[in-house]
Amino acid sequence: MVRKTLIAGNWKMNCHLEDGITLAKGVAQEAKKRARKDCEFLICPPFTLLMAAKKAIKGSRVMLGAQDCHFAASGAHTGDVSPQMLKDLGCQYVIVGHSERRTNHYESDELIAKKASAAIEAGLKVIICIGETEKERDENKTIEVCTTQIMGSVPENATAQNTVIAYEPVWAIGTGKTPTSQDVEDVHAAIRKVISKKLGRANANKMRILYGGSMKPSNAKELLNLPDVDGGLIGGASLKVEDFIAISEASKQ
Ligand code: PEP
Repeated sequence: MVRKTLIAGNWKMNCHLEDGITLAKGVAQEAKKRARKDCEFLICPPFTLLMAAKKAIKGSRVMLGAQDCHFAASGAHTGDVSPQMLKDLGCQYVIVGHSERRTNHYESDELIAKKASAAIEAGLKVIICIGETEKERDENKTIEVCTTQIMGSVPENATAQNTVIAYEPVWAIGTGKTPTSQDVEDVHAAIRKVISKKLGRANANKMRILYGGSMKPSNAKELLNLPDVDGGLIGGASLKVEDFIAISEASKQ
């Protein structure tokens, strides 16, 4: 089963107008020159930079995504942004359920499923993040936690075409720590089984499962070449053009 590698950058709450434009332009230019033809690129800047980033990557192979959305199409939701608004701006993807939102904004699986479902309805593709904390890992609960999160936060209208799962162990995000390759492969294979149970075997075989958590050029080759790893969701290293592109060069296709 060939699943197209997706290299996705989560800029988080970083970059102002000028450096955001420079970064987006740099990714677009280097992706054209150097990166593998059959791998997909996505950048997810903060809301404030989406319009500028869209212009900066225009005509390139780089796609645009947001880092969150509300589940409603419009209404009295101060500070929120709807999937339709993201679509208007040219976004193709939206990340939902990042651990920083689950923790800092108390987002539940149920809420994440509602956001994902609404985003799919609006014509966006979703990246649904899951992953265990260090405590859960130490208690050997990784698969249990990921199973619960998939069952609860992947909506009924998810398919391999409109949904990507990102496995991001919380303890690996921004820490420089990563699980062993064997652990990553084991968890990804287990996630695929759970998706099969929830959405059927055909969707499970085709759905991309990204790894996220301190991915960088030096560990990308090992991680991206695992059989059930179909790309990366990259935080810190997506803020440097050279690192982001170097990670894509390490991918298996
Ligand atoms: C992330 O926040 O999605 C992430 C993977 O961050 P980092 O690459 O910095 O660990």
